Amino acid sequence: MTGHPVDIYSLSLPELTARFASMGEPAFRAKQLFDWLYVKRASSYDVMSSFARPLRDKLAAELPFPAIVEHTRNVAADATAKFLFELKDGQRIEVVFIPTAKRGTLCVSSQAGCKFGCGFCASGIGGFVRNLTTGEITGSVLSAMRAVHPKKVTHIVFMGTGEPFDNYDHVLGAVRLLNAKEGINIAARRITISTCGVIPGIERFATEGIQVELSVSLHATNDLLRDRIMPVNRKYPLKELLGACRRFAKATGRQVTFEYILIKDLTCTKDAARELVGLMKGWLSKVNLIPYNPVKEFVHRPPTMNEAREFQAMVERGGVVCTLRSLRGDDVSAACGQLRNSLKNET
Ligand code: SF4
Repeated sequence: MTGHPVDIYSLSLPELTARFASMGEPAFRAKQLFDWLYVKRASSYDVMSSFARPLRDKLAAELPFPAIVEHTRNVAADATAKFLFELKDGQRIEVVFIPTAKRGTLCVSSQAGCKFGCGFCASGIGGFVRNLTTGEITGSVLSAMRAVHPKKVTHIVFMGTGEPFDNYDHVLGAVRLLNAKEGINIAARRITISTCGVIPGIERFATEGIQVELSVSLHATNDLLRDRIMPVNRKYPLKELLGACRRFAKATGRQVTFEYILIKDLTCTKDAARELVGLMKGWLSKVNLIPYNPVKEFVHRPPTMNEAREFQAMVERGGVVCTLRSLRGDDVSAACGQLRNSLKNET
C-alpha cells in the first residue's frame, strides 16, 4: 500500500515524482506520465503504451482519473460551446468555450453551486453544494479542450459557477497545473481569476508570485445597491474592497480588471457612470462592461445597445479604460449557471 487514491489531475510534477518514488518507480516515469496526461492528453491508462500493464493497473488503482462525463453540449450560432460535465457524485458543472477571431477562452467553474447569491446570477439560485477538487477543475478543462480541439483554447477564466477564492487551495492547484510548462502550458497572463470581492482571497493571491490576472466583479458603484445585488458586499464593503484591489495592484504591478454588469435602469444609468468614474479614476485598473444576459428567475432587463454604448462613452470620457463585451451564446444559456439550472430537475 503506497497511499490513498488521489485523482491523477490533482498532482503537480514534483508531487507525482514523490508518489512514484513511494511506489518504487524511477522519477522519469513521473515525467512520462505527465506527458501522457497533459501533452498527449490521454484520458485513460489503457493507451499509455510506454508503461507495462502491471504498472498501468497499479496507477489506475492508486491515481485514478476523476469521473468527468460529458452530459450535455450546446453550440450556439456564434460557435460558443457550452458543456455540462457530470462528476462521480452526480453533480454537474459548466464549462463554456468562447471563440473569437483572436482567442479561444474557456470559462470554468470552481464550485458546484454557489453560496454568494448575487441577485442577477443563475449559479446562486440553487445554493452551494460543494467545492470542486483540483483534479475536477483540471479534468473539466482537459475534457473541454479535447472536445473543441486543444489548440483552440488560448485563455482560461475562472468565471463559471462558484467563487474561486472560496475554494482557494484547489483553484490555485489547478491554476499551477494549467500554467505548468510540462503540463497544460497556458501562460499565466492568459489565466484570469474572477472574484465577487472576497478580500482575504485577494490579499493571499497578491503574495503568490504568479502573473495570473485578477478580475473583480464590481457590478454596483455604491454600498446601497451593491448590498442589494451582491450580498458579499455586506461583509466586504466597497471601500475596503477597492483598498484591497489597490494594494494588490501596487504589490504585483498588475492591472486589476473590474467587471460591471449593465442592467437597464439599475446599474446602467448616468449617475452610475459618474460614480464609476469616481471610483476608478487615477489608478491601475480597467472596466469591462457586460450587458445583462436575462435569467428567467430575475426581473432585470438588459439595456439597449445604444444605452450600453452611451454608458461606455461616459466612462471613457471620464478617463477610465473601458471595454464593452458583446453578448455571446445567449441561445445556449451561456450566462453563468443557466444551463446547469435549466437541467437540474432532469432525470
Ligand atoms: S456571480 Fe459568481 S459569486 Fe455571484 S452568485 Fe454567481 S457564481 Fe456566485
